[in-house]
Formats: sequence, C-alpha cells, structure tokens
Amino acid sequence: MTDAEKAALEKSPLGDRLIALIKARGPITIADYMADALGHPHDGYYSARPAIGAAGDFTTAPEISQVFGELIGVWLVQSWLEMGSPSSFNLVELGPGRGVLMSDVLRASAIRPGFSNAASVMLVEASGRLRHDQERRLRATSAHISWADSFSECAGGPTLVIANEFFDCLPIRQFVRSESGWRERLVGLDDTGEGLAFTLAATPPEATPLPDKKDVAVGSVIEISDASASLASEIAQHLQKHTGRALIIDYGHAGHGSGDTLQAVRNHAFWPPLSAPGLADLTAHVDFAAISRAAVENGVGVHGPATQGAFLQRMGLTMRVEALAAGKNAEGQAEIHAGALRLASERQMGSVFKALCLSSHELPPPPGFETP
Ligand code: SAH
Repeated sequence: MTDAEKAALEKSPLGDRLIALIKARGPITIADYMADALGHPHDGYYSARPAIGAAGDFTTAPEISQVFGELIGVWLVQSWLEMGSPSSFNLVELGPGRGVLMSDVLRASAIRPGFSNAASVMLVEASGRLRHDQERRLRATSAHISWADSFSECAGGPTLVIANEFFDCLPIRQFVRSESGWRERLVGLDDTGEGLAFTLAATPPEATPLPDKKDVAVGSVIEISDASASLASEIAQHLQKHTGRALIIDYGHAGHGSGDTLQAVRNHAFWPPLSAPGLADLTAHVDFAAISRAAVENGVGVHGPATQGAFLQRMGLTMRVEALAAGKNAEGQAEIHAGALRLASERQMGSVFKALCLSSHELPPPPGFETP
C-alpha cells in the first residue's frame, strides 16, 4: 500500500463524527469542514495538537530565523513613531503560534524603549496549548500582555496589528464551474459510505458573487473566504476610527483564478485534506485582492501586496544578517545566511509569501512597501 493509500484510510474521532453527521444530514461546506477540523474545541487540530516548528507538522518564518521578527519589530516601531509615538496603543497579534514572533518583535523594539512601555499587547489565540507556550516565552518581557478569542475584543485607541500565517487558517468555500454552471464543492461520503470525499452540490449556489460562467473554463475552481473578508472589514473599521496599521503576511495570490489551494500538512509532508481531520493542519492560499477590497470599502489605504523577499530586503534584511553573523563562527554564520535565504529567496518563501499593509489615511506610506 502506498503512503497516500494508508493516509486515506487513517481514522480520527472527529472524522468518524463528521461521517455520521453527513450520513444523517447530507454534505457540508468546505468552510464548515475547515472550521471543525481546525477549531473543534476538543478534537480540532488547534486544540488537540498544534505542532509548529522543526519537530512538529510545519515551520513558519519566525521559527526559521529571528531576523524575521526583528525586521517586523523595526516596522512596528517606525509605524508607532509615524503615529506620533502615542503613550498607549494596542499591539495585536493574530495567531501568535509559539510566541516567537512577538518575542523577537519586543526584543528588537528596545531601540525605542517607549514602544514596549506604551504597548498593550493583545494575543488572539484559539489554542489553549499555544496560549500556554506564548505565556511561557513572553513571561520575561515587561510589556503588558493579554489574550483574546477574537479581534473584536480589541479596545479603542491607536492600534498596530500583525498576522503571520493566520489568514490561511480561515475557512474558505470552493465553487466549481461544471457543465451546467457554478456548483459548490462540498464534503460528502465516498462510495463505501465509510470515508469522506468531495462532491458537488446539485443546485447552483445562492447569492454568491461569482464570475459569469461564460468567462470561465469548465472545471475551474474559485475559492471565497467570507471569514477573511469580514475580519479584514472589522480591522479596517477599527483602524479607520482609531488610527493605525495592520501587517498581514501569508502565502497567497493577488487575484482570483488560482484554483484549488486547500491543503493539509502533517509531519512536514502533504496529507490528503479529508483524511483524519483534526490530526493535520489545514490551510488555503490567501486571496489578497479580496482582503484589499474589504479594507478599501471600509475606509483605509492598502499597500502591496509586496513579496516577502522584497519586503524584508526593504526593511534591511542584508544589514541585519551581516550584523548578526559578525562575531559568529563559520557554522553560525552559515546558519544565519541559510535562514535568511529561506525567508527571502524567490525559490523558497520569498515570492509565494506576500506582505500586505492596511493603513489609516492620515499616516504616511508605510515602510517596506516603497515602489522600487
Ligand atoms: N503566527 C505564528 C503561527 C501560525 S499558525 C507563526 O508564524 O509561527 C496559526 C496560528 O493561528 C496558531 O497560533 C493557531 O492556533 C491560530 N489560529 C488559527 N485559527 C484561529 C482562529 N480562528 N482564532 C484564533 N487563533 C487561530
């Protein structure tokens, strides 16, 4: 049996319950499937086993190199200065993982000690386990830290928001251009009735803004994330009212038409998205155009997306890497250079990952997004 066949047969408690539910009530949307597979309070991936880092299921930029969080720290300090150095402001991180990014940000922000004294750090985190990791890693910092279930808990006042690999966890729906027009792709049962499989809705979707079917080839897939658009709207409204910026970094595309990007990852390898839900991480590419639209409609400016590589270079990647490498032995220097290359090179994370900034209109253009 191949690894893929074995994976397809693997069971999980959440998978068994979803199979029973679909038997009783019919197929569910991919958005509902993702929300359960990631967020189920007991068996969802983020409550049961979020495993970030080399020993886990997937690695993220702050886990690869401290330079990532330090340059974002510089970006945040500069944004705070451009906001007039408010004596108190909200520093919000969405989905802080193991707290590595925030810890690097706060260390780098020591270049302006007023920054961390003024910051009320709010960590929006669904996973109890990861909250625990964050608390341990950030215990030593002097900044005031609190946790929240959602951005809506953010208090009024000037606000800076960061989100690295957060929007890719938010549920998406998929629509397929079939011979007879648009149909939603759903999660149903396979031929045996004992496993999950994709299926198409029998009737056209209602009230969903999709391109004219005449303009799209049969078989094309479009993804829509209502959760991303409504979160982007909420953040934009907050920034418009209270002043501030949000920096969103994720892998994704700048327009529609990228097809099916739903993917699962387990132990650093791709995993069939419908196998053993709750045991694998599940994500989709971020639609930066949709986030930008939601932001503009709610009264803030949008800058980018810039590729992660270009953004980091403009924030001073080369200089920071040289400074870190100085004084290290050859092995240490090689490690620092390899980490930076992985973050910024086009063939690795540098071009598929992108940075987008939402910024209230009274602020100047943000650093890192200057056109070359
Ligand atoms: N930013 C971190 C972790 C990325 S993984 C890093 O770069 O390393 C995604 C993070 O978002 C995890 O912390 C996960 O628990 C959290 N998360 C995912 N969906 C969430 C939701 N709906 N609400 C709150 N946190 C969520």
